[in-house]
Amino acid sequence: MPMTWSSAGPSSGSAQAPLNGLSVDVEDWFQVGAFETVIDRGDWDGLPCRVERNCDVILRLFDDAGVKGTFFTLGWVAQRYPAMIRRIADEGHEIASHGWDHARVFTLGATAFAEDIARARAVLEDAGGQRVTGYRAPSFSIDARTPWAHEVLAEQGYAYSSSVAPIVHDHYGWREAPRFAFRPVAGADLIEIPVTTAEVAGRRMAAGGGGFFRLLPYPVSRWAIRQVNSVDGRPAVFYFHPWEIDPEQPRVASAPLRSKFRHYTNLTVMAAKLERLVRDFRWGRMDELAAGQMALALPADTVLEKAA
Ligand SMILES: [Zn+2]
Repeated sequence: MPMTWSSAGPSSGSAQAPLNGLSVDVEDWFQVGAFETVIDRGDWDGLPCRVERNCDVILRLFDDAGVKGTFFTLGWVAQRYPAMIRRIADEGHEIASHGWDHARVFTLGATAFAEDIARARAVLEDAGGQRVTGYRAPSFSIDARTPWAHEVLAEQGYAYSSSVAPIVHDHYGWREAPRFAFRPVAGADLIEIPVTTAEVAGRRMAAGGGGFFRLLPYPVSRWAIRQVNSVDGRPAVFYFHPWEIDPEQPRVASAPLRSKFRHYTNLTVMAAKLERLVRDFRWGRMDELAAGQMALALPADTVLEKAA
């Protein structure tokens, strides 16, 4: 049954509004893909960490709005800040995996990927005291080049992945992937829930967070999520990073200009935008959203063929 959008606006009280997935990709300012050519992994331990302070700001923001979400966290971060992971879990949020140290999936082979996510999961479960059943690939790096990645996730018993951007972007993207939940591995329960895109004049545009949310005026994002909820009748998947609410973070002077523009623009207005976003829609944990999408997720061989 198609969802209808009430013109009264925020529908947090409406039984008809889909539960959207609110997610935070927990990594620090120096771990982002855009800076990987100028900051060596070997130097990470010497850089000032901001992630704990920033996650505490996010926890307050979520608590004030009365929303729960999913924190896709690097094993590297959980190993250094186990008390922070426990605080997040104790406040009712889901702890999920963002891999060990932000290596993109297509730079790893199946064996290295299996080791990367197993290592991260052990540390996350130990710190959070809850089972980890969700995974998000760094920089949405599961795509047509990595058919083995979903198989590894299914083998390791994950319930869902939210690792595909069904769009072409200069850093990532899998154009032929479906926009909504699908079953990537035949015979397995695992579902993939791609990050949200909106369709405009027959073209897909990124609409699930990142630069789209931070750089463009808030009503553009609000419109896109309403479209997904009302026209598509499906939940949206939204993500952001702790460093995006941190105007005080150290500046990486040697980064490419375009990366710097994307990374540093609108950091001061991000928190206020998020406060509007979390109040304008119904939000919840990704594992809740996944449970609701199970019955709707079609096998990949049907949906990928149709889109090709
Ligand atoms: Zn990330």
